[in-house]
Amino acid sequence: MKKKNHNTPSPPRAPCQGQGHALRITVSGVVQGVGFRPFVYRIAQKLRLRGWVKNIGYGVSLHLESENQANLRRFLKSLEQEKPPLALIEKVEAGPTPFRGFRHFRILKSRQEESFVFISPDISTCRSCFDETSDPAERRYRYPFTNCTDCGPRYTIVKSLPYDRARTTMAGFAMCPDCRREYENPLDRRYHAQPIACPVCGPRLSLVDAKTGKKLDEGLKTAVAMIRKGKILAIKGLGGFHLVCDPLNRDAVARLRRLKQRQTKPLALMARDMETIAKYAAVSPAEKRELLSARRPIVLLKKKRDIPQIAPNLDEMGFMLPYTPLHHLLLGELGLIVATSSNRKDAPIAKDEKEGIAELCDYILTHNRPIQSRADDSVLKVAGEKPLFVRRARGYVPYPQRVPPELQVPQQIMALGGELKDTISLYKNGYIVTSQFLGDLDEYQNFLYFEETIRHLQRLFSVKPDLLVCDLHPGFHTTRYARKSGLPFFQVQHHYAHVLAVLLEHGLPPGEKVLGVSLDGYGYGLDGAPWGGEFFLADYDSCARIARFREVPLPGGDQAARQPWRMALAYLRDAFGVSLPRIRSLEGIDGEKRRQVLRMIEAGVRSPLTSSCGRLFDAVSFLAGVAPAEVEFEAEAPMRLEALAQRKIRSAYPFSLEPGSSPWEISFVPAIRRIVRDLARHVPAGVIAARFHNTLARAIAAVAEKAAAEFGVRTAVLTGGVFLNRKLLLSASTLLEEKGLSVLRPVRYSPNDESISPGQVAYALARLKKERFSA
Ligand SMILES: [Zn+2]
Ligand SMILES: [Zn+2]
Repeated sequence: MKKKNHNTPSPPRAPCQGQGHALRITVSGVVQGVGFRPFVYRIAQKLRLRGWVKNIGYGVSLHLESENQANLRRFLKSLEQEKPPLALIEKVEAGPTPFRGFRHFRILKSRQEESFVFISPDISTCRSCFDETSDPAERRYRYPFTNCTDCGPRYTIVKSLPYDRARTTMAGFAMCPDCRREYENPLDRRYHAQPIACPVCGPRLSLVDAKTGKKLDEGLKTAVAMIRKGKILAIKGLGGFHLVCDPLNRDAVARLRRLKQRQTKPLALMARDMETIAKYAAVSPAEKRELLSARRPIVLLKKKRDIPQIAPNLDEMGFMLPYTPLHHLLLGELGLIVATSSNRKDAPIAKDEKEGIAELCDYILTHNRPIQSRADDSVLKVAGEKPLFVRRARGYVPYPQRVPPELQVPQQIMALGGELKDTISLYKNGYIVTSQFLGDLDEYQNFLYFEETIRHLQRLFSVKPDLLVCDLHPGFHTTRYARKSGLPFFQVQHHYAHVLAVLLEHGLPPGEKVLGVSLDGYGYGLDGAPWGGEFFLADYDSCARIARFREVPLPGGDQAARQPWRMALAYLRDAFGVSLPRIRSLEGIDGEKRRQVLRMIEAGVRSPLTSSCGRLFDAVSFLAGVAPAEVEFEAEAPMRLEALAQRKIRSAYPFSLEPGSSPWEISFVPAIRRIVRDLARHVPAGVIAARFHNTLARAIAAVAEKAAAEFGVRTAVLTGGVFLNRKLLLSASTLLEEKGLSVLRPVRYSPNDESISPGQVAYALARLKKERFSA
């Protein structure tokens, strides 16, 4: 007997039964809560198709009928070509099914099913909504919370799934009759747009004096006037508050920096339009595409006309375009603003005015639609026409990542990531969802954010993990969390997790070995030492460290990461022994401090040996006179060095590759000696910086060439935070490709520690598969 699906109504018997064609289609991916069913309804109407559409666990299911087979084919074409902007189609399966003689096309109610239901990220205001808010004849004229099924908040307002209004932070707003009509009409742009709102029934703006808490009249207009006067405002956006001021007002920017306790960390800018951005920065076509995309990331662009204090000592500034109607209204008046996350130093972005933002600003422009999930602005640069993520959050989270079929397991998994720039990842039913950037978990507030995100994502995607995955580091908060959970857990080496994340993202099948080049600041090694310049022969279930950078002392541990001059001394000591050359930049450091650090190095006190590439960059940056004695943010010294590197320089320094050792050792002692010689000859820092970048690229290529000859690897993976360095990434890729290797690097995730958690999931999947087969 055929199993009857009680969601499918019995079709009325029609005279034409048996004379038409019928098609059963399932579409999987992000197709719920993005206007997909009304879109299907509209094409079905247009092509005079009959049948139904409904949401199912992992997508939508359709039954279509027509006498005209060409119309069914046209439907499939439209499905791909005209899909709503927020929809992400993973797979379309279509096949013939018995013709049953439906008379209409209907959107059927869906039953809640136990599966992975996807939810769209937040998406910037669409053209139609923008036009509507600009038209004085429209009822949403200048309404800051206008949205439709193609745009508006999603991830940041959802409390649980399935996605409908009652389960979002819009639940408290009762729809007015006009909104209700739009919401219920399948032909309306706002059919089932859950955050639908208008001036009558939706959220409202208010402007509050940060000191007195007093409300001010004409919020938006007054806010604009205050920014023009040089005041600092906290403005509530989608995933949190921005701190906003006039970037051309030096006093305002200086004050903002004092309040945020950030003297050099770059500040993001929001510009009215492309023309405004083009005044200050060079924009390539690929960068323009990213800026204008519906996800609206901050894009790092080469400076054309610098704005002082925005990104000091760097050659790039970060710009984004407005992504909510509120931003459009503000920028329509102001043209360009600083829009930086409203977090206090070492705390997550504020989502509520009660989280202490009054101390960071003069006025608060807020509204009464609560934020469920925090999400920072995403930040990327373009390298080789593709995005290179510095931070992946708003606009991209929680897009799912499909796992190669060979790795899929029935268990549910939660990976906790590392410690710095943490994310978590959940696995269920063949898909991984990675959280937004959560920050450094060593800070108590960020750790609370980590726990808040775990609770939220588990509930949202109804995941109950069977096991956890964490880092090898015994002292990380994530490792302690795993230990305390009572669940079984796996531990994965940090740099191997970096490589695995890339294999997974690119859907590499199991069994194909790659050369994994994992370069970053720090990760706990298999031997407990601080690693960071690692080369692996790896696939999903094996990993051999075939090469590493020569180890040097890390005097003072964490302190060495903050004070690049310590690493400069460590490298000089390694290259020159006890008779150190005189280096100008080091003369600026107190003599007693220098001697103290040298004594630590010589006695091996608090000076573990490290192979870190990040620390090598710190040392060279300091020797070249580019890095400050103490950095304010991670990678500041390497970023300054990259910014300075002259493009036309082709020469490099010598290095050595010791194949006798196991793992092979790459030593930059010869390079350090030549850098010191260049310094003595007053070679400009920009030339030294370029030569150093070229040296690293050549060292990577040399290891790859040897690995290809000895192990037959054809693919190299470039990952780890160091590969946020565009110059190194591009020059290393070019050299590797010249040697016939194909190069993979993270495109949808950041190469930094944000990609540790998806890599950890990949490890667990491979282990579970293996255990099942060997059991
Ligand atoms: Zn819209
Ligand atoms: Zn309304």
